[in-house]
Amino acid sequence: MPRSFQDRSGRFAAYHIKEITGGATRMARYIFITGGVVSSLGKGLASAALGALLQARGFSVRLRKLDPYLNVDPGTMSPFEHGEVFVTDDGAETDLDLGHYERFTGVPARYTDSVSSGRIYSNVLERERRGDYLGKTIQVVPHVTNEIKDFLAIGDDEVDFMLCEIGGTVGDIEGLPFFEAIRQFSHDKPRGQCIFMHLTLLPYLAASGELKTKPTQHSVKELHSIGIAPDILVCRSEHPIPEKEREKIALFCNVRKESVVAAYDLKSIYEAPLAYHREGLDQAVLDAFDISPAPKPDLTVWKDVADRIHNFDGEVNVAIVGKYVQLEDAYKSIKEALTHGGMANRVKVNVQWVDAEVFDTEDPAPHLEGFHAILVPGGFGERGTEGKIKAAEFARTRKIPYLGICLGMQMAVIEAARNVAGLPDAGSEEFDHEAGKKRFEPVVYHLKEWVQGNEKVQRKVSDDKGGTMRLGAYDATLSKGSKVADIYGSLSIEERHRHRYEVDTKYREKLEEVGLRFSGMSPDGRLPEIVEWADHPWFIGVQFHPELKSKPFAPHPLFADFVRAAIETSRLV
Ligand code: GLN
Repeated sequence: MPRSFQDRSGRFAAYHIKEITGGATRMARYIFITGGVVSSLGKGLASAALGALLQARGFSVRLRKLDPYLNVDPGTMSPFEHGEVFVTDDGAETDLDLGHYERFTGVPARYTDSVSSGRIYSNVLERERRGDYLGKTIQVVPHVTNEIKDFLAIGDDEVDFMLCEIGGTVGDIEGLPFFEAIRQFSHDKPRGQCIFMHLTLLPYLAASGELKTKPTQHSVKELHSIGIAPDILVCRSEHPIPEKEREKIALFCNVRKESVVAAYDLKSIYEAPLAYHREGLDQAVLDAFDISPAPKPDLTVWKDVADRIHNFDGEVNVAIVGKYVQLEDAYKSIKEALTHGGMANRVKVNVQWVDAEVFDTEDPAPHLEGFHAILVPGGFGERGTEGKIKAAEFARTRKIPYLGICLGMQMAVIEAARNVAGLPDAGSEEFDHEAGKKRFEPVVYHLKEWVQGNEKVQRKVSDDKGGTMRLGAYDATLSKGSKVADIYGSLSIEERHRHRYEVDTKYREKLEEVGLRFSGMSPDGRLPEIVEWADHPWFIGVQFHPELKSKPFAPHPLFADFVRAAIETSRLV
């Protein structure tokens, strides 16, 4: 009987899982990536860079993240705490590490590339309620671990390498079932099918001028105690690792010396593939799998990326007017997409975070003058929105390039309605819902039903928090002759969404009369996807999140052109 891994709506029941030990035509090799000593060592980046290096050697890869927290998905977690929510084409709200994976490998992440303890437990409990376990006592081993193993096995016949990163650090209580599951999984598979890569830190003691290996030894000991023997150790270090220390680590941690790979600090994350290659990571991985002779890598793309990062001609200053400005990770993909836009134009993009709330009471001009472009990102809730509306007005009237993303588009529409189209009470239903009373004319409103492909989709305000959004990839049709059609070089696009509210087409005529063109619409013409001011050098609002699809080797056209427009502005001042 095929088992299946499902989310709470049963949406992915269609992903049938082969029994782990058999049935596959091609069986992926698994690389499990764990971390120790401290958190935030850059496991996600190391995984992504390794993925890119394996691709450079001609292998196909898929990257996965297993997160020990108990939230069912990061959709409802505060960006202040958890950073950005990365949305996949198939509509999953995932950890921002999946963004790294996509930016480095270009492989679109899927719903089944991210899982949390919360989802695993909720699946197990749901099965228990359904009676699937036939009255058995439900335990972490084997029921929870089996659920994790089922997740790991999804799509194991599709790629050469599956890279699975375990969130947190070894020894965390919540992480234990994941560690136990990967240990079991590696035993279920034929010998040589799975390897373990462990990231640690070598702290530097300035007083004695030494790198210390003891925390790494302890962390590996912890792994050994749960039955996992790492094949590769990636050691973060601020200083070169002397040969002697490398030998010591190899000896005490029971790994080969060539498998102790140094990870030094980098100026840009996009140097990581070349840096890890220099340190021999990909070779160590292929050796661990006994793949010989190793195919030669083609690193042309990454050399070009590194060249564009280091050799630029000029700089532009872009203001991001947002709410979560204290934690830059909250807008991770936007920051990266701007960097890519800079690379496309060979300029450096200096990003400055401006707190939108400041404009609630203050004139934005002194804060925004001097920037070559203004970006208003996505967000939820009313706080800071009056400030964003003022930022949109500033950009419109001063003819500064403006890119409004999701909420940033909605604010631009409200600004146009209030200040140009004669609708002084224009606002968003989102804020009325939040306040529990009607105050605004809802030019942005809650749409309850729409079409995706050939299916009708419905949502209610009262739906549980995780399930009420328009999520994932949707098509849009662009108007001939519009600025966006020119930028995309196409009249039909597909972009990722994550929002509850929509601009109401009821106001389209009024807004177009004053010059705000609805230049992108859903194919059925019901959902405004893009607006642009006809008589402005560069003012575009998009209901979707173009930043999620930008890559260093393929900058998103909107970001590339936004930065180009910023360069033009910089030449005027
Ligand atoms: N809060 C707005 C909505 O739900 C915008 C969401 C966003 O910017 N991602 O429609």
